[in-house]
Amino acid sequence: MKVFNTEKALQATISLLLKEGKTIGFVPTMGALHAGHISLIKAAKRHCDVVLCSIFVNPTQFDKAEDLEKYPRTETADQALLQAANCDFLFLPTVEEIYPNGKDNYTPPNIGNIVNLQEGKHREGHFDGVMQVVERLLRITLATHLFMGLKDYQQFLICSKMVAARQLNVKMQGMPIIREKDGLAMSSRNVRLSKKGRETALKLSKRLRKSKKLITKHNYQKVEKKAIKYFHQIEEIDLEYFEIVDKTTLLPPKNKDQKENLIALLAAWIDGVRLIDNIFLVS
Ligand code: AMP
Repeated sequence: MKVFNTEKALQATISLLLKEGKTIGFVPTMGALHAGHISLIKAAKRHCDVVLCSIFVNPTQFDKAEDLEKYPRTETADQALLQAANCDFLFLPTVEEIYPNGKDNYTPPNIGNIVNLQEGKHREGHFDGVMQVVERLLRITLATHLFMGLKDYQQFLICSKMVAARQLNVKMQGMPIIREKDGLAMSSRNVRLSKKGRETALKLSKRLRKSKKLITKHNYQKVEKKAIKYFHQIEEIDLEYFEIVDKTTLLPPKNKDQKENLIALLAAWIDGVRLIDNIFLVS
């Protein structure tokens, strides 16, 4: 695996490959890699001629300085995992390489109110930072295909809208959530959970699965209310949101008996760690 630290060196190599007609599959990450990330590398390997991963802990998408500081960094292990997955290229830029003109002069495209819902409501400026870094990375890497996980479902939708608004020539590929055997969605943040917190965290995916069953009998409002009530009873879980929404607009369905195209999305704090998860209901 070839490692690049600068835009210039990476672009020189990618430009040559594009001239040869090769497709470039790109997997942006913040490191602390796990099987969820590696599933994206493998999907990119299946679809594209060349696979490029980036590891960059993007400061502009963190609303809390403490969260940025505590973000796990496991560079040596990350490189070994990528190597084992036959990733071709790794881009490891510095903050200065990504934001040579400073971090604060980005105007995001207007993609509507979706940036203010769910994650956006609770993490001010988060999606502006995500769009900023993904746009910049796409312009640097010249990737033809962008692979993202549906674990961050809202992020995937928002990046798809950003790509369309900026008319970037890249195909979006959303890949399924990879879970631990017991159902917990894999996340770089899971390593920060205590043993007890890890057990409590299992309740998140369990309740999502239960909601998927309940929606066959009840309307979405009832299922949502029941889930919120359930989480509020658990002292170790500090629920930020649990919402059942239309999977294209992320707004509550217009018809309360709608069963099609729904997704349940949640965020919760356990042990001071913020976790997110989601499930497609009746699709
Ligand atoms: P991150 O390093 O957390 O920014 O994630 C990088 C990419 O990996 C994003 O597209 C995430 O959605 C994706 N990802 C993270 N966890 C998982 C998972 N458990 N399953 C599938 N994709 C994931």
